[in-house]
Amino acid sequence: TSAATVHERPAFLGSTKQLLIGGQWVPAASGEAFDTFNPADGTVIGRLARGGPVDIDRAVAAARAAFEGPWSRWKPIERQRLLLRINDLLLAHAEELAVLETMDMGAPLSRTRSTVQWISQTILHFASCTGAATTTTSSHSLPGEVMALTHKTPLGVVGGIIPWNGPLGGQWWILGPTLATGCTCVLKPAEDASLSVLRFAEIMAQAGVPDGVMNIVTGYGSEAGSALAAHPGVDKISFTGSTETGRKIVAASAGNLKRLQLELGGKSPDIVFADADLDIAVPGAAMGVFSNSGQICYSGTRLFVQRRVQEEFVERLRHFSAGLKVGNGLQPDVDLGPLISARQLDRVMGYVKIGSEEGAVLAAGGARLGNELANGYFVEPTVFSDVANTMAIAREEIFGPVISVIPFDTVDEVLKMANDSEFGLAGGVWTRDLSTAHRVSQGIRSGTVWVNCYGMVDPTVGFGGCKASGYGWKGSTEHVESFLQRKAVYINLN
Ligand code: NAD
Repeated sequence: TSAATVHERPAFLGSTKQLLIGGQWVPAASGEAFDTFNPADGTVIGRLARGGPVDIDRAVAAARAAFEGPWSRWKPIERQRLLLRINDLLLAHAEELAVLETMDMGAPLSRTRSTVQWISQTILHFASCTGAATTTTSSHSLPGEVMALTHKTPLGVVGGIIPWNGPLGGQWWILGPTLATGCTCVLKPAEDASLSVLRFAEIMAQAGVPDGVMNIVTGYGSEAGSALAAHPGVDKISFTGSTETGRKIVAASAGNLKRLQLELGGKSPDIVFADADLDIAVPGAAMGVFSNSGQICYSGTRLFVQRRVQEEFVERLRHFSAGLKVGNGLQPDVDLGPLISARQLDRVMGYVKIGSEEGAVLAAGGARLGNELANGYFVEPTVFSDVANTMAIAREEIFGPVISVIPFDTVDEVLKMANDSEFGLAGGVWTRDLSTAHRVSQGIRSGTVWVNCYGMVDPTVGFGGCKASGYGWKGSTEHVESFLQRKAVYINLN
């Protein structure tokens, strides 16, 4: 209560939200809606329209019409200016959006505020890429007087399906390349956290995004999500979420051979060598898991620690964890907010139980928090030590604030264990030794490796995975290219 009064309650909260289709806010065809909750206290903060296949049909038709309409004649510089106007409005609404995101999905305000800054950088990155949709000429090895043109035109209608663990920022991996290239999109945010996406859509309209360029259908994955993935009018799906759902999306996309970009689960190795500066490695590796209460795909949840420092490291990790404040993310000094839902709470507590049963040592945390936090879904920062890489807590994505410390002795041994995983999203290494840093960063099979740091993602560098963590690079110019269709035209000048 005291926390909520510190910040102005966003006026957007409370009412029933509608779907955004062709620039109009409309109810779901079924007329149904469902409650959405603040995970910090379990209160209802709004209702979301329960979109389904009929709504997806309409949204895809609106996106197709917009794609073929005046939007297709916008020049790159006009799309660039649009992105810059969106950036200005984002920054003008920064605090409102951060508070809304915190109340909708639980992350501390410090995190959602920095998300807004990251979005701004991401918008500027994509604004700098609008010239990629263009035509180039060449006649490198053509006989006689023949010239080739390469046209790069926007791919078409993109379906974006995003999770609840950071929708305000996550939607930009779809909106950015959509607006940079001249595509259009239908966004399906997660049923557990859609409010910031809906509010941002109002801001986008204010910035001048034409009707139908961005459409939003809220609802459940099995209804709205699966209809979008299977829709023959969609040219590409960009999906972030679980590997299990990713597999369903691959199957659903087969009908019209959609292009896919999938960012799925992870169980990333973070490797601490005995020579590391433990003063930075302990907080760095801990927050590499505890940030966003462990609900990040690239969390470094398999924490490999060289055996001769394991005892000291775990002791320091325990001490660091005990100093973290868990609570309502609206309070200024909170480090960890709640988990998103009762379902995720059950899942995480289930893994804590499994870890103990498997014989790992519970070194810190492990409990749900009660008292004034009892109505929310709060879990203590949790550390298991003496974990074997074969245990379920080392193999399966928990998506909660749970670290598994796994001891190792040599570089070769730890690389073998690090790569013995279904996933290949990210990884980290902490060492003062240059050759160890290079050997390990080259040896880990993943899309990203951080050396003596963890979790930074620059939109101009990009992010992606391999193995069961998915494929298709987000960010960088490569992302923009993946929203374009090439066509070669050969012209005989004689
Ligand atoms: P999910 O994959 O089921 O949900 C992600 C998005 O996909 C949501 O918008 C959902 O509505 C949609 N979706 C669900 N089923 C669909 C289907 N059949 N077709 C199309 N869209 C569908 O993830 P979840 O159920 O919210 O979480 C379960 C687990 O997934 C988590 O515990 C975590 O391990 C993992 N997860 C990973 C990430 C990540 O970024 N890597 C994000 C969220 C969840």
